[in-house]
Amino acid sequence: MIPALLASASFGAAMNSLAQTHERFISELVTLTEIPSPPFKEEVRGQAYRDMLEAAGLKDVAIDSIGNVTGVRRGKASGGRMIAVSAHLDTVFPEGTDVTVRREGFRLSAPGVGDNTRGLAVILAYLRALDAVGMETRDDILVLASVGEEGEGDLRGMRHFFANSTYRDRIAALVCLDGPTPANTVVSAGTGSKRYRVTFRGPGGHSFADHGIVNPMIAAARAVVELGRLSLPDDPKTTCSSTVIKGGSSVNAIPAEVSLMVDLRSNSAFELADLDARFREIVLQSCHVENDSRSIEKGIIAVEIALIGDRPAGGTAVGELTRSAAAAIAAIGQTPVFSSFSTDANVAMSLGVPAVTLSWGGKGGDAHSLTEWTDVDPATTLPEMSVGLAVLLACAGADIK
Ligand SMILES: [Zn+2]
Repeated sequence: MIPALLASASFGAAMNSLAQTHERFISELVTLTEIPSPPFKEEVRGQAYRDMLEAAGLKDVAIDSIGNVTGVRRGKASGGRMIAVSAHLDTVFPEGTDVTVRREGFRLSAPGVGDNTRGLAVILAYLRALDAVGMETRDDILVLASVGEEGEGDLRGMRHFFANSTYRDRIAALVCLDGPTPANTVVSAGTGSKRYRVTFRGPGGHSFADHGIVNPMIAAARAVVELGRLSLPDDPKTTCSSTVIKGGSSVNAIPAEVSLMVDLRSNSAFELADLDARFREIVLQSCHVENDSRSIEKGIIAVEIALIGDRPAGGTAVGELTRSAAAAIAAIGQTPVFSSFSTDANVAMSLGVPAVTLSWGGKGGDAHSLTEWTDVDPATTLPEMSVGLAVLLACAGADIK
């Protein structure tokens, strides 16, 4: 399907249209980037995107109860299976972050400009190109702009979609555009994760007068050191990272509370479960050791383990979707690489729905940092943008001429 599609006059015309409207793509990318979309506060960007999907002529454009935006580009067999293309609305940046875009030539810099505002803008560009050349498909194409992909959002948008949407049973394949992923990468396996906030609480006291009582900071520190000593498999890649520690109130007070965040990940559901058990044992043991080592006269150390993130592991078997992606990447002279990562596609994969995450096409860097940038030079961007478009059209059964 892919070679015939790429060689067709219709696909060539769609790519020409992308080239001709490239400046419009850039301006939409700038517009969307400059609408802040902090975690759990994606409404304003979601409303703007809904309006853009409506203007692009999609049908049934709607925002669901948690903020996901959807719209349908009807196929000839409308009402049957659907191919979903998605990008996430949220960024990692808190409210108040300056999201003004700086443009130097084809380099755009702003927090969130790449991850993943560019995915949203690319979908708009695809829709415009398909309409410009009158490209029809067999299946309906569902555009899904999801909330809560990043961090503590914990894929909440995609989870909600697959739990509640009336479209969920019709999704035959999901293509997530997210980046900056190298253009030759097909994320076809979802790294599972469990994320915790572990809070150690104790009596607290004066650093001098109460010296000798149990100290939650020591229990937390012991947990960090022991977690750092865990021996974990390289394949399937399995990791344990202590990432945030907070607590204490004053230089001359034994703290009453110290909290620690830990990120556990694995490409294997089995290894993740095993690591999860070892993690809990270490945390509880760190607490016991502290209670045994110092005075509990004023109170003991207790620990609370709160699950703050739970992303399912999963994978997409070799099939039409993965083959199309590999062929579309090979067609732009790159070698396809299949990899594993944690993205919105995890949710579909864990339910057995074929899903991949692909690059939005083009270069970028410093994702999740204030110096984030993305390069929109058409010379590299346009060929790489052909990959996602070709995969979408191949799966949706494009009517090529
Ligand atoms: Zn992303």
